[in-house]
Amino acid sequence: MTREERQLREAIVAKCRWMNASGLNQGTSGNISARYKDRMLITPSATPYDAMKPDMIAAMPIDGKEYGSWEGPLQPSTEWRFHLDIMRGRPDVGGVVHTHSTYATVLAIARKPIPACHYMMAAFGGNDIRCAGYARYGTKELSELALAALEGRNGCLLANHGMIAVGANLDKAMWLAVELETIARQYYLSLALGAPHILGEEEIAETARGFSTYGLQPPKAKPAKARLTTAAARKRPEKKLSTKR
Ligand SMILES: [Zn+2]
Repeated sequence: MTREERQLREAIVAKCRWMNASGLNQGTSGNISARYKDRMLITPSATPYDAMKPDMIAAMPIDGKEYGSWEGPLQPSTEWRFHLDIMRGRPDVGGVVHTHSTYATVLAIARKPIPACHYMMAAFGGNDIRCAGYARYGTKELSELALAALEGRNGCLLANHGMIAVGANLDKAMWLAVELETIARQYYLSLALGAPHILGEEEIAETARGFSTYGLQPPKAKPAKARLTTAAARKRPEKKLSTKR
């Protein structure tokens, strides 16, 4: 195993623990995957996150002949189908986060898509977050419904189930999972207050243009920025030390 793959596996475990500690997810209901070259690394089925170790992460070929084949000491998450189908159908996606976070799930139970109630909707690639129709967990049918709801989007709700957020890498996918749950909570509360004002297509498009000129990525995506700083610091360690002295 390369150092890079090891680090990605460690990041998956760390993100699983973080998403439960932060309240975004409960128990072992969520699952996370990340693209590593021609394989998908995915959390194992029904394994408590505090007992999960990087070696327990399952690996599945993304475009192999044997759809659904896997390697590892434990079976991949029961939701491996939509993770794998997203990786196959969306080459832009490097990370997938699935949770049963409360407010996104509440809206999914009411089968309510989320309209552009907040400008952060622009981070999801369009004017709404769709709600995929219902199919039993783990099925190919659910995967197909999820992929359709994710068309041109970085997130969707799953009817009577939860939500999915996708990103170019694991950090972005987790950031969007938090944003999706936040927008879901804001929308739910604005519905409780009554008559929320919804932004128009042009307002969301304008925000999306703002995001694209803000920098390499939307605001708040701090992990990537931190990496850049670290890489820059690594290049000239002597200079940094001498400046301090
Ligand atoms: Zn689920």
